[in-house]
Amino acid sequence: TAAIDPKKLKPDAARIYELVVRRFLATVGPDAIGLKRTGKIDVRGEKFDAHGQTITDPGWYRIYPYYQPEETVVPVLVVGEKVGLDEIKLQQEETKPPRRYTQGTLIQEMERLGLGTKSTRHDVLQKLFDRHYINQRGLEPTTTGIAVTEALKAYAPLVTRPEMTHQLEEDMQLVAESKKPKAEVLSESREMLREAYMLLAANTEGVRGTLTGALDRQHFVGPCIKCGGALRIQRSPRGTRWVQCSNNPGNCTASYALPSAGFIEPAPDFLCGVCKVPRVKIVFRGQRPDLYCINPECTEHDKAFRIGVCPTCSKPLEIRYSFLGKRFVGCTGYPDCRTTYPLPQRGKLEKDQPPCPVCHAPVVTAIEAGRPPWTLCVNPNCPSRAEAEKAKKEKAEARAEAKAVAAKAKKSAARAKGKSAAKKGSKRTGSAPASGRAAVPRRRKAAASTESAARPRR
Ligand SMILES: [Zn+2]
Ligand SMILES: [Zn+2]
Ligand SMILES: [Zn+2]
Ligand SMILES: [Zn+2]
Repeated sequence: TAAIDPKKLKPDAARIYELVVRRFLATVGPDAIGLKRTGKIDVRGEKFDAHGQTITDPGWYRIYPYYQPEETVVPVLVVGEKVGLDEIKLQQEETKPPRRYTQGTLIQEMERLGLGTKSTRHDVLQKLFDRHYINQRGLEPTTTGIAVTEALKAYAPLVTRPEMTHQLEEDMQLVAESKKPKAEVLSESREMLREAYMLLAANTEGVRGTLTGALDRQHFVGPCIKCGGALRIQRSPRGTRWVQCSNNPGNCTASYALPSAGFIEPAPDFLCGVCKVPRVKIVFRGQRPDLYCINPECTEHDKAFRIGVCPTCSKPLEIRYSFLGKRFVGCTGYPDCRTTYPLPQRGKLEKDQPPCPVCHAPVVTAIEAGRPPWTLCVNPNCPSRAEAEKAKKEKAEARAEAKAVAAKAKKSAARAKGKSAAKKGSKRTGSAPASGRAAVPRRRKAAASTESAARPRR
């Protein structure tokens, strides 16, 4: 790849590019060197320490200005020297709970405990999300996550200890380096896993009890208004979800459909103010959660799903979910009126806005983390959309044409410059990826050393 000219980037992109470049250079940059000095001071028998730290050679900090070490100066003291006392303060403080992990600090902790490798740690984290062991927000463990850990701790503590995984990783490394025979490591790890499995197998009842109890609590939506039973979120293997009463099947028929987009969380403390049926929280990444009543016969429910008026029959339109979980707009006049419109499938929908001035179909804005909001008339045959699409296409074509012209001009210029210039150019672009690849292992090693050099050493 050719070098990038930062001047040709958009300002934000250029700043990110600079950050990435500086970060990379800093990881291979020289260590920072500092001086630490500790003074031990005795105030009438009470011992106090003074810690000082100064940087004598900033090393990689010169390349990476976003982070600067704090400097405090402690003067040179001689043993037995008397120092003046300015002020005595008595401070009352309380201990603070440790901060929750971020994705970054959790990966660091795994690194510290020797769990996983550089390439597997992110997968491990993703699994925690996929299995709903932790929440997207603040990496808070879910009831299930806590229950799984508790059950394993109680019935198969071996599996929960980092040492076992660490041992396996280390042995695998030794196999890779041909320092330990593969067969030996295999039989050892088999033995370890067998032991863990036997423990679990002997305690299935206890494990099941702990887990189902937790899942019941995590999926509890609220009390059933028809029979007083417990309403819980259910999931089909295909991912469809709905709310069902614990006495259904049985002597209650209560069950409620759930929208298939977004994360759904129970909110048993927030029953609907109108119909007293429980509400649930719908969360889209990066958006504030919405509460909505699950009862389709309730006016509160309508508010969450009504989306304007049908241009064909003037009855209300509403957001619906197909059998496969796709959302679309349908007419409440169905089956007399068969008006439907497709909807964007991803992101939160802002729907309460005036209808399209051209075709009178509803207008929505899809909001998704990491993308600009997208406002559109939901009618795919609306002339306003055809126009927007045409303008977009024309713009893209014009851009492509301009690019082609520029490339052509560059090519002929290079040809005009002669053979030697062309040779030089090709050498530069050819060598770039090779040196980039070579830098990777070095960077990893250096990353560890510069990171630790954040605490300057002498
Ligand atoms: Zn019920
Ligand atoms: Zn309601
Ligand atoms: Zn209609
Ligand atoms: Zn329209």
